[in-house]
Amino acid sequence: MTGFYGKSVMGNPVSMVEKRVLVWYRNDLRLHDHEPLHQAGKLAREVMPLYCFDPRQFGKTSFGFPKTGAFRSQFLLESLADLQRSLRALGRDLILRQGKPEIMIPEIARQFNITAVYYHQEVTAEEVAVETALRLALAPLGVALQSFWGHTLYHPNDLPFPIGQLPELFTHFRKQVEKAASVNPALPAPSRLPPLPEIEPGELPRLEDLGVKLPPTDARAVLAFKGGETEAFSRLDHYFWQQDGLKHYKETRNGMLGADYSSKFSPWLALGCLSPRYIYEQVQQYEQQRVKNESTYWLVFELLWRDYFRLICAKHGNQIFSAAGLQGIEIPWKQDWRRFDLWRKGKTGFPLVDANMRELAATGFMSNRGRQNVASFLTKNLGIDWRMGAEWFESLLIDYDVCSNYGNWNYTAGVGNDARGFRFFNILKQSKDYDPEGKYVKHWLPELARVPAGKVHEPWKLLPVEQQRFGVQIGVDYPNPVVDLLKSAAANEKVYQVALAKANFRQRSP
Ligand SMILES: Cc1cc2nc3c(=O)[nH]c(=O)nc-3n(C[C@H](O)[C@H](O)[C@H](O)COP(=O)(O)OP(=O)(O)OC[C@H]3O[C@@H](n4cnc5c(N)ncnc54)[C@H](O)[C@@H]3O)c2cc1C
Repeated sequence: MTGFYGKSVMGNPVSMVEKRVLVWYRNDLRLHDHEPLHQAGKLAREVMPLYCFDPRQFGKTSFGFPKTGAFRSQFLLESLADLQRSLRALGRDLILRQGKPEIMIPEIARQFNITAVYYHQEVTAEEVAVETALRLALAPLGVALQSFWGHTLYHPNDLPFPIGQLPELFTHFRKQVEKAASVNPALPAPSRLPPLPEIEPGELPRLEDLGVKLPPTDARAVLAFKGGETEAFSRLDHYFWQQDGLKHYKETRNGMLGADYSSKFSPWLALGCLSPRYIYEQVQQYEQQRVKNESTYWLVFELLWRDYFRLICAKHGNQIFSAAGLQGIEIPWKQDWRRFDLWRKGKTGFPLVDANMRELAATGFMSNRGRQNVASFLTKNLGIDWRMGAEWFESLLIDYDVCSNYGNWNYTAGVGNDARGFRFFNILKQSKDYDPEGKYVKHWLPELARVPAGKVHEPWKLLPVEQQRFGVQIGVDYPNPVVDLLKSAAANEKVYQVALAKANFRQRSP
């Protein structure tokens, strides 16, 4: 499959003067570096920015979790409110509608004589299906549907290979891109926009209207994430310019506690409040004005991973969602709900896993180190279907991004294109390497607060007298381990190797 990217990606987008252009906002809630808005601003006599609350996004995932949970819903509403304010400051507005875009947009197009719809294209099945349905609905009305590529650092036109020939190993991709491609400048936010036709703007729904309820704010969260372009700029200013966090990003990025161990840009990137090309330009400025070192490079390196997952999705289509993953390894995954519940509630008996899962449930965020560990534990120790974990993340993460989430889950489950065999994270070693004083686990597991650092990662080893001294009863206040760490990994490795051998055999067979 060559992917879903639309015609205009590779072509010259728009040339003629349009009368009325509707700019369809999706996961691109910003004014800066927004090509559809930029082009509409240049070419149209009237511009109508519109956002549709698609009811399907507020339904259930296939395993029955809310598709857009409370944290992300809240972040979305804040981001839209910010976009609305910014457009109003230009004397314009954001039109808000509730309903499927492929129904709402043609209705508006008919009513207001819209001549073209501009939007940022997506690459994964659900999103592409909406684009296709919209195209079909607009065709009889003679309304042009013009897509733009705008979520990545690199534009597909500038890559040294077509998407269909994207390297299957990240390192190969990175080296070729770094050698032969360059990042285009971010487009400026418009200082003025053509007028809006006479139209009722509609209102932002409340969280309750979306069918979700926000849990009380947890003061232990790494950051009080607030949606919107304005907040995104202010976070970047804080992390790069006020805290000087960028200059030691590479050394701190594996942290788990506090606001500034990593950039925390992901929620704003995921909803498009922040453009990666804008971050790239800020990194360059930082390198000129402050320091250029491995850390400044590394932030861009991580953004390249983000690009890579999106391009891989464009190349492979739905394969990324299949249990066998991009490599087609048919592992007989378990759908063991009892153990899955222990995992998602943070009750596995392994403090590092539990602390991370409780952080996710309480705040909608988890560090990259945490995500790698809990995903490895679910798949390599519990042998549970990685898609259940991916959907749980999809439901809860503020920064959920379909390509980064499913790409990373493929990778950690050992079924991704770039996955290298059965690589599991030894939770105990990870705990000691990344949380040597037990500060992180104690932060999220108050029942272990009095256990000394040297013992806190293996609470099952506490003697009865120690349990009494440290105020925790194992099996009562904190659970016994759900599995033996090494034995469970060895058993799952056997299952994996058999599945891998079968996959290799299938690939070799004519
Ligand atoms: C199982 C699993 C699921 C994940 N799901 C998501 C997801 O739904 N959305 C998401 O944005 N990230 C996801 N990640 C990647 C990564 O964990 C987060 O991007 C990162 O923790 C966000 O924090 P940050 O912005 O402070 O990152 P930083 O370390 O400051 O990195 C800067 C930016 O680089 C990008 N980035 C960093 N690491 C990765 C990575 N491994 N893959 C892709 N992009 C990366 C992100 O856009 C991030 O904001 C997942 C990782 C794993 C292991």
